[in-house]
Amino acid sequence: MSLNKSYLDVKDVKDVKGFQETYRLECPVCLDPLTKSPIFQCYNGHLYCSDCEPKLFYCAECRVDLRPKSKNLALARLVEALPKSCKFAKHGCNVAEAVAKKKIDHEKQCPYRTVTCPYQFFCKQEVTFKDVNIHVQGHNPEISSNESKKRVVKKLEENYFNWKKVNWHSSCIQLDDMFFSDIVYRDESKTWHFWFYMTGSEEKTKDYFYTIEFRAVGMPSNAPILAYRNHVVSIDVPYEEVINSGNCLSLADSVVKKQLWNEEKKNFEFWVQIEKMEEVDK
Ligand SMILES: [Zn+2]
Ligand SMILES: [Zn+2]
Ligand SMILES: [Zn+2]
Ligand SMILES: [Zn+2]
Repeated sequence: MSLNKSYLDVKDVKDVKGFQETYRLECPVCLDPLTKSPIFQCYNGHLYCSDCEPKLFYCAECRVDLRPKSKNLALARLVEALPKSCKFAKHGCNVAEAVAKKKIDHEKQCPYRTVTCPYQFFCKQEVTFKDVNIHVQGHNPEISSNESKKRVVKKLEENYFNWKKVNWHSSCIQLDDMFFSDIVYRDESKTWHFWFYMTGSEEKTKDYFYTIEFRAVGMPSNAPILAYRNHVVSIDVPYEEVINSGNCLSLADSVVKKQLWNEEKKNFEFWVQIEKMEEVDK
């Protein structure tokens, strides 16, 4: 590209917030920056965003009558051309992109994007991605290293099979500065789902696998009746998507009750492990 422009192109503005502040490109009513057309004005030139304008009859700055309506087309063209701030700007992100696709790509990877806490059965908090490790650590006083298969036992005080929904996690494993948590979830259709969340982006999940092994009562302990291995799931992926995409182990209530549930001890028992798979050349 060699456009050789002799003027400043607003598409090249790096600090959009600073630009908006310097030129006071904000609506005096809602205080949001003016980012889209149409932009309205009073006959003295005070500006209003298109969301506030229908509610106004007098200029909030100089009290003149706002009818008939008046638009500012040149300013609308200018703010439409400005790079658009990342949608997580209110969480601290300063990135702005002039190209819509670039903006969407950035937002998927933005360190300030929000994710739901993986333990949504007791914590409904939205957490910025960059803080998710600290948040998950805070929920897990005991964090295991990943040296061997870990035994997970879940004792039931009541009969979970009568519950509408069941949701818990039992283990938190640390590997490569990330945390891995098993999620057990039985939804309203009485299907049980098992998977592992990782506090990392989706592109990192291809290197990490989890194993879940169920060992039935009366069977030799080294012969699991069910062993399941899959990629771990990024914390960016919500529960519904994990289940609907089939990216987890899903078992009917009857199977869990008959084969995995230990009626005598009133518990579930399974073994878990996280594995990092080295990329194979050739
Ligand atoms: Zn407004
Ligand atoms: Zn005015
Ligand atoms: Zn961002
Ligand atoms: Zn939480």
